[in-house]
Amino acid sequence: MSNFVLQNEHLRLEMSAEGALTELTCLATGTNHVRVPGLDLWRVILQDEVSLVNLVTPANQPCEVVQEGERLVLTVPRLAYRAHDGLRIVEVTMRLTVALDGDASRWVTEVENRDPAIRVMEVWAPMINGVRPPADWALYYPQDCGLRMADPVSNLGDRGQMFRFGVTNAYLRELYPGKASMQWMGVYGAQEGLYCCSEDPSLQTTCLNVERNFGETPAGDSLQICFIKYPGQRVGRWTAAPVVVAPHTGDWHAGAMRYRAWADGWITPSTPPAWVQGLPGLQDTILREQYGALVYSYDDIPMLHDAAAEVGIELVKLTGWHPGGHDNRYPDYVPDEAQGGRAGLMENIRAVQQAGGKVMLYLQATQMTRNSEFYREHGEQVSMRDPYGDELADTFTWPGPSTLLPLSAQHRLINACLSMPEWQQAMTQRTRELLELGADCIYLDRLAGYPGYLCFNDDHPHARPCEAYVDRVQLGMDCRALAKAASPELALASEYINDAGLQPFDFTIPYGFGVHYGGRNFGELFRYTFPEYIITTQYLNGAEYERVHFALVMGFRLFFAVNWQHAPISHTPPEFRAHACKLIDLWTAHADPFLLGRFVDTEGMHCNNSALFAKAYRSEDRYGIAVWNPTPEPQPLAITTNDGRRLDWVGIDGLVGENLPAQGVAFGVISREGGA
Ligand SMILES: [Zn+2]
Repeated sequence: MSNFVLQNEHLRLEMSAEGALTELTCLATGTNHVRVPGLDLWRVILQDEVSLVNLVTPANQPCEVVQEGERLVLTVPRLAYRAHDGLRIVEVTMRLTVALDGDASRWVTEVENRDPAIRVMEVWAPMINGVRPPADWALYYPQDCGLRMADPVSNLGDRGQMFRFGVTNAYLRELYPGKASMQWMGVYGAQEGLYCCSEDPSLQTTCLNVERNFGETPAGDSLQICFIKYPGQRVGRWTAAPVVVAPHTGDWHAGAMRYRAWADGWITPSTPPAWVQGLPGLQDTILREQYGALVYSYDDIPMLHDAAAEVGIELVKLTGWHPGGHDNRYPDYVPDEAQGGRAGLMENIRAVQQAGGKVMLYLQATQMTRNSEFYREHGEQVSMRDPYGDELADTFTWPGPSTLLPLSAQHRLINACLSMPEWQQAMTQRTRELLELGADCIYLDRLAGYPGYLCFNDDHPHARPCEAYVDRVQLGMDCRALAKAASPELALASEYINDAGLQPFDFTIPYGFGVHYGGRNFGELFRYTFPEYIITTQYLNGAEYERVHFALVMGFRLFFAVNWQHAPISHTPPEFRAHACKLIDLWTAHADPFLLGRFVDTEGMHCNNSALFAKAYRSEDRYGIAVWNPTPEPQPLAITTNDGRRLDWVGIDGLVGENLPAQGVAFGVISREGGA
């Protein structure tokens, strides 16, 4: 039987009668992205009376493909899987529809379950399979701020390990909203690529999966790119949000713009107060340890601010300011008598403000511990549950100098289900209380992004396990409204990066990929797609010159957490502090465009020296380029603007000549005489 074809002026899509994708060609370039045809197009995981997991693949059952006008419909009337006693066929129908829409193919999956013994747990569809980009292409994956993997068919996972030990490590898979910060990914070369997006504004938990298929030889290896949905569907019908797969011309920037155009339909980045927009960085210190020890008291807060202010940083973050200590007795946040009591905390916050500083108070917004008052009252009900019915907990043990804690403690932070009114009320109430203490900024840890777990507590208000975090933006917005009602100058911050999850926040402290230099880090991916969001560095533990220089170019605000949040910046060597001070002076002197403008990656410029790391910024009135020389040798500043306008390069010691010294940083601003 012949294959089914959809074609318009942009692309050609072909599906076999057996329901496999055999061709996806960009007609402008002639590139067919399906290089290994005939691989599976979908996969389903079913739960039955016996097993949480039963694998359904196309090989187990018949299907039908029909052409209905401008679309193809693949129907699997009854799903079947292999159980220990043979093939079991269940009354679950799956339908996968694809239509062309300009240069994109749009895929919609529907499932109808008529079998009360069955729950549809996972749906992998469409699996864009058999993709084998040329070796000079890369995979762009939105893990945290961004990950770029060169030649993914060769570099994703370890072929040797796979075969020797049967260990499958050959995938990238993260949850959105979780460590996946956006709902798009793709493979791109310099001129074209393949864009994949789950157009799903529901905030339901979705997995972004990129997997390497191993052929008999490396030449037969290919990629599978897929969004995995978790309907948790018992009897009834479920329809997935559309998945867009678009082979198009342009590099990854074109993919980023395509995603942003879709995201603009439902995501609106916040407008931070001016002091956050111009924020060069902040300093974080723990006042009380998880295991009880006091590191500082409230009377030390002005000293902590003075230490930060010495290098030009005015915002101090206070962690462990409550009696339980950091990452303990959550969410019981009351002032600590041993640290100086409520009056002492308020008085010292005021002292910082009078000295020109600002104070941010820490609040964990997604996790609790069993030893809190809140847990005793609500913990059992509010806890997220895994598929086994256990509380979903993360382990955070702060060891201190001991061996007993790291070797014998598992300090559990139990994830609260954000759908629960008790938790939502607790968080808005805590926000109110922290504002009453006089804080300039409230830190709602983790509310913006990670985690994005599924919750299997059937007593919770969410209809499906994948909807545990759909209230995360609204909860953040409720807290934001409280702060902004008190004063528009008050700010809200969070941890992790997520396009939708960051809407309630003025800035975020990231964790993971993309905020470091080199390797597979590619923070450009999120920075370019959502340049409005203000992101800090990861923990700066001490005199980390290279990371500070990298941050200046990427626009990551400096997050000093010296000695892993245990000391103010005054504990770094004086020469580093002097250097940091000069850098921050340079940055704030050129706040427009480097702090206030828009990160545009390499738009408008060309860097002719690949040893340099350079990024461009644009504001209404200015264009500028930030550059760092990460090498140990001086490097020619061979950077030109596309319109030929001259740049004046300024470093921390004034104008920079034709060479940028080793580890040097410079800002190039368009010369006024050049017509800017
Ligand atoms: Zn729940």
